[in-house]
Amino acid sequence: MSANLYTRLAEGFPGDRSAAVFIFADGSELSYGALETQVSHAAALLVARGVEPGDRVALQVEKSPQAVVIYLAALKAGAVFLPLNIAYTPAEVDYFLRDAEPKVFIQDAPGFVEEAAGVAPLDEAVARGPDDLASIIYTSGTTGRSKGAMLTHAALLDNARSLHAIWGFTPSDVLLHALPIFHVHGLFVAMHCAFLSGCPMIWLPRFNDAEVLAGLSRATVMMGVPTFYTRLLANPQFTREAASGVRVFISGSAPLLESTFAEFEQRTGKRILERYGMSEAAIITSNPLDGARLAGSVGFPLPGVALRIDGEGTGVIQIKGPSVFKGYWRMPEKTAEEFTADGYFITGDVGRQDEDGRVWISGRAKDLIISGGYNVYPKEIELVLDEAPGVIESAVIGVPHPDFGEAVVAVVMGQGVEAELIAAARTKLAAYKTPKRIVFVDELPRNAMGKVQKNLLRERFADVLAG
Ligand code: AMP
Repeated sequence: MSANLYTRLAEGFPGDRSAAVFIFADGSELSYGALETQVSHAAALLVARGVEPGDRVALQVEKSPQAVVIYLAALKAGAVFLPLNIAYTPAEVDYFLRDAEPKVFIQDAPGFVEEAAGVAPLDEAVARGPDDLASIIYTSGTTGRSKGAMLTHAALLDNARSLHAIWGFTPSDVLLHALPIFHVHGLFVAMHCAFLSGCPMIWLPRFNDAEVLAGLSRATVMMGVPTFYTRLLANPQFTREAASGVRVFISGSAPLLESTFAEFEQRTGKRILERYGMSEAAIITSNPLDGARLAGSVGFPLPGVALRIDGEGTGVIQIKGPSVFKGYWRMPEKTAEEFTADGYFITGDVGRQDEDGRVWISGRAKDLIISGGYNVYPKEIELVLDEAPGVIESAVIGVPHPDFGEAVVAVVMGQGVEAELIAAARTKLAAYKTPKRIVFVDELPRNAMGKVQKNLLRERFADVLAG
């Protein structure tokens, strides 16, 4: 049996192919049958353009149903799908194209799909083995060269099936999809759950308050990054009533603030289900659908995922399991560095696992601050600052310091008096952990997935302790 991911996903499509796969904001729909037909034509056009099994197909386009058609067509044609963030500059794209050497690079999804309509369809998916590549996802890499995580057909299918099961997806679900689709969250995690259950997606090109609120009246599941939830909470029209039809709100790609979790529960009576994942392994841990979801914890390792902490208590999280990537594209040395001798992937995230097995993440290893020889975990300080009145969110960074090597500085979104906030933090934190300076800003810099870009903060505030 072919392990082609498209074939396996399509087994979940509804028997009645006239059922909708996409529901658009204007109320119009596209059916599973129409999607399937367009995929067959687009796959044929890829083959006609010379795409052979294992060739890369790169796509840099706005989010659209046609982009999804091309993703699925690439799988069906046996190609390796390479999505690129629309925000990448030509120089960045140039790097990806040189590195991945795609056979085809598409920048006009509607045009491609329209042209494909004139080509005789490819009916049978090209046979692929479980270990063949389905996709390469370039990591957002804030330092050094961006690395292409190689994901196989079997790895993506395994993760999709796990999530479909643990999050209780059924054909009667309606998934609200407002995420970008150049990233694993919107591309794999969300869409594969919908495909495997044959359910429709309310398809929004981006997060827009009014459209999301309208979509929630029909949706049963929403997946989002934490900023989606903070934006919803900032809107008074997001009420208990507005959230009442949704059976689960799922969050990931960046840490969910405990205050967001609490405010969301207060407003809607529902607890956000937080999960943790990364490009290299799709989803790794999840809070339970049934059972306690705890603020600040990313839940339990998925079935089949072996997770361990390197060190006593808190340390770098290592994982092994069927959904872990095969390595970095054309970087065997980098790949070898990031796996242990016994085959665990070193995630680069620091965390701990409690006696119940729940995982608590305290940040990226590269954000760890070493001040005067002591390790300082930014999260511990952020949790203290975030409790103070006037603080919406804080980001703690290490900046160069003549005596300590690095010293703790906090960048706070919100308002307050620096000296007072430092004094209040000092009552709860040892001196070496207490910020030497607190800078107030209106907004923290974030990437498209809502992650705070601490590398930018480190650059911007590098001199804050000087003089
Ligand atoms: P990416 O490869 O772009 O998906 O980024 C993966 C990284 O996002 C992980 O290694 C984590 O640092 C972070 N991340 C994802 N989900 C969570 C979460 N729920 N809580 C904290 N960090 C997260």
